[in-house]
Amino acid sequence: MGNEYKVLPRDEFNKVLENNVHPADWTNPEPAARYNLVIIGAGTAGLVTAAGAAGLGARVALVEKSLMGGDCLNVGCVPSKCLIRSARAAADVRNAGAFGVDVAGGYMVDFGKVMERMRRLRSGISVNDSARRFSEELGVDIFLGEGRFTGHDTVSVNGRTLRFKKAVITSGARAFDLPVKGLAGAGFLTNETVFSLTERPPRLAVIGAGPLGCELAQTFQRLGSKVSVIEMSPQVLSREDPDAARMVESSMVRDGVELLLSSNIKKVEKTEEGKVLSLETGGQETKLAVDEILIGVGRVPNVDGLNLETVGVRYDARSGVQVDEFLRTTNGRIYAAGDVCFPYKFTHTADAMARIVIQNALFMGRKRTSALTIPWCTYTDPEIAHVGMYETDARRAGMQVDTFTVPFSDVDRAIADGETEGMVRIHLKKGTDRILGATIVARHAGEMISEISVAMKAKLGLGALSGVIHPYPTQAEAIRKVADAYNRTKLTPGVKKIFEMILRWQRRG
Ligand SMILES: Cc1cc2nc3c(=O)[nH]c(=O)nc-3n(C[C@H](O)[C@H](O)[C@H](O)COP(=O)(O)OP(=O)(O)OC[C@H]3O[C@@H](n4cnc5c(N)ncnc54)[C@H](O)[C@@H]3O)c2cc1C
Repeated sequence: MGNEYKVLPRDEFNKVLENNVHPADWTNPEPAARYNLVIIGAGTAGLVTAAGAAGLGARVALVEKSLMGGDCLNVGCVPSKCLIRSARAAADVRNAGAFGVDVAGGYMVDFGKVMERMRRLRSGISVNDSARRFSEELGVDIFLGEGRFTGHDTVSVNGRTLRFKKAVITSGARAFDLPVKGLAGAGFLTNETVFSLTERPPRLAVIGAGPLGCELAQTFQRLGSKVSVIEMSPQVLSREDPDAARMVESSMVRDGVELLLSSNIKKVEKTEEGKVLSLETGGQETKLAVDEILIGVGRVPNVDGLNLETVGVRYDARSGVQVDEFLRTTNGRIYAAGDVCFPYKFTHTADAMARIVIQNALFMGRKRTSALTIPWCTYTDPEIAHVGMYETDARRAGMQVDTFTVPFSDVDRAIADGETEGMVRIHLKKGTDRILGATIVARHAGEMISEISVAMKAKLGLGALSGVIHPYPTQAEAIRKVADAYNRTKLTPGVKKIFEMILRWQRRG
């Protein structure tokens, strides 16, 4: 089949990427008489389902219309984290003076090289998700083309029919189409196009201060763009703990990002000055002229064109394919996993769901999404990582909480690192040491949150974490300090009195 998916720019790295994840010379195999699983969409959810099922001996067909690896590899986690790393290097050099390091003559960010580094690393990683690896090493039948249901046990792709015992919808999500007057005419970037840039936009408007918007706004600012973030709500990362979000907010402002919170966009016009956004910010009408506009206001599930009505799979245009907690759709033979059906749209949740689907669809398993402990992280600097409930969730569920917070200004390693802005905050069920949730703000919060996830998953209380020896000096010691703070609450006046009596008795000689 021809390769319709040219990844821009057409350099050696993107050619390697295409050759791995959508090879131009790919010939779809002869379909098997019947598959145990036919999977539509080869992003994280589809790939993990396919690899796991084939590894257990299932006959599997995996259908992909665009690039295998989906958003994460091609236009999501991987390219964004590569750019974030370059941006961190730039910020470290900028701040080197604070560490007694004189960077004589200043520094310059070579945007072209930053993007080329990203493309090189992405192309290297793409081998893991390649059509050849899945076909030759893992034994999955790879069909490149658009898949759609055609009957109660059939999917068609490029005119071929794939018969299935069970099917899995893993078609993912895409950028939300923002209905703003003049936006389409002026032109804008989404996550699907921003990683193809080869030149730095001098002035960039980022619409939306969610995880994607904040990560890329800070990154582009650090890489030398003048970035303005336009956000409807009065806080960045509006779903996060307000104290945590404020820490990220001040870091972004220190970097030079202009935050236009409580703002609405009325219209966009293309003028000689550039793309001009008419805004209403806190009741005031203002104008903002930029060179590029990046939309980061949420994701909508890919449910169109799959012919879901034909097979009785219920869905909603905003929330996606309807599934129960076993990930079964309203058609018992068809399952779904990943962004197309789940509110927590992350690569690690797509992976976790794929593992559930394999057991439930192939082996009559009863694995439930409700049993998952789901952490997430926004990779700003500092990062915000979270697991479990926020205080507001707990209250809504009618639970009372005890909250313990340790700021990094109390942690020796953070002081030595010059990274005192941040905290570890843990919520417990009131009167117990059962961890309901935690938020960490730190440069490597994403690495630190797993200690709390392990404790929650293993049903270890916070008290147990105070008995875990943490190497000194590490930032993770903050977690032990939170546990110590909890332990101190157990030292009630009554207990203290008994201790004092024992110690007095011991002194009597
Ligand atoms: C900029 C950005 C940064 C991100 N960073 C992170 C991060 O740091 N950490 C994290 O955990 N998550 C991150 N995410 C989210 C993460 O990328 C997604 O949650 C993850 O990719 C979801 O995987 P999926 O398999 O459900 O869907 P997708 O990756 O979207 O894959 C779905 C696939 O299905 C294909 N498809 C759709 N319809 C059809 C059809 N009819 N026939 C054949 N194929 C079809 C699509 O082409 C696509 O390849 C980020 C997302 C973005 C946009």
